[in-house]
Amino acid sequence: MSADRVFNFGAGPAVLPETVLEEARRDLPALPGAGMSVLEVSHRSAVMDGIIESAVAGIRQLAGLPDDYHVLFLQGGATQQFAMVPLNLLPPGGAADYVLTGVWAAKAYEEAQLLGAARVAGSTEGERYARIPEAAELDISDAAAYLHVTSNNTICGTQWRDLPDAGEVPLVVDASSDIFSRPLAFDRLGLVYAGAQKNLGPAGVTLVIVRDDLIRRAPPRAAVPTMLRYAAYADQGSRPNTPPVFAIYMVGLVVRWLLAAGGLEALARRNERKAAIVYEAIDRSGFYRGTAEPGSRSLMNVTFRLPDAELERRFVATAKEAGLAGLKGHRSVGGIRASLYNALPEAAAGALAAFMSEFERTHG
Ligand SMILES: *Cc1c(COP(=O)(O)O)cnc(C)c1O
Repeated sequence: MSADRVFNFGAGPAVLPETVLEEARRDLPALPGAGMSVLEVSHRSAVMDGIIESAVAGIRQLAGLPDDYHVLFLQGGATQQFAMVPLNLLPPGGAADYVLTGVWAAKAYEEAQLLGAARVAGSTEGERYARIPEAAELDISDAAAYLHVTSNNTICGTQWRDLPDAGEVPLVVDASSDIFSRPLAFDRLGLVYAGAQKNLGPAGVTLVIVRDDLIRRAPPRAAVPTMLRYAAYADQGSRPNTPPVFAIYMVGLVVRWLLAAGGLEALARRNERKAAIVYEAIDRSGFYRGTAEPGSRSLMNVTFRLPDAELERRFVATAKEAGLAGLKGHRSVGGIRASLYNALPEAAAGALAAFMSEFERTHG
């Protein structure tokens, strides 16, 4: 690691692989074969065709994606998907089911309520979202247009081990904070979306992977603007208008890095090792207290508390001085959050655990 880079535990925008940053820097003035910067190429050029095709091919290979799925690049973040999912998948008169496991899941549900009928199929809000519901607690309607779940709850630090079985009901997953951190059974999924800035690339692009039959599921509604229709992106190679060229290029480089790192099985093992190091540091002390129930703990966002808010403030500030940045919890819940995304080196988890022991020794 270059000497002037810290370990970045921020929740998003987040750490990117250093080799990817170096490659982007090397090629920034002139992309090989293009004679100009990726920041300057036309989005209709053969160069951009190649960038998109190679990113899509890499994602297909990485995810083991069946042929009947489209890979789309959009803008507006995961938040825009909160609206696009019901606009495209919820027919007039239909209803969609949502499982509320955190702040983002609740926002997705609220947006769907604005646009149509949405039902709560399960919720742990009453337990401050400290756990993922058991399968037996879910009440999924056979008639639901889709079931929406958030695979990893970035703020509360919980993650589904196995996504729920929705039977014939299409499963729609907000995977913004754990996309490509572990294998996903794509053949069971209807639609997956992820803002890139946590596990996939820089801010500005959103990945949507959607089963072909869902792209045109809702009867055409004059009220759905072109830019909010999946079909507009599927029909025009993610380019109904000018796309975020640089962000897509970066996602392509990150995907190539993920493939070179051994693919999703290897990444899952690595992410399990990193998370185990930090959770062990929490569990072996009486000073730190994890906020998620052990069976629901996230491998991506480790959330914990110290005895009081003043110690938490000092923990964050002292860690930053020690080269461990971005550990402050989300403003809505407070506490500490260590995000351990794919690109965070394993050495960062060890450095954090060592810092935690030392901080406890001097402040406990
Ligand atoms: C960060 C996040 C969002 C919001 O993403 P934007 O791209 O900023 O809209 C939505 N869902 C989850 C699970 C997130 O972690």
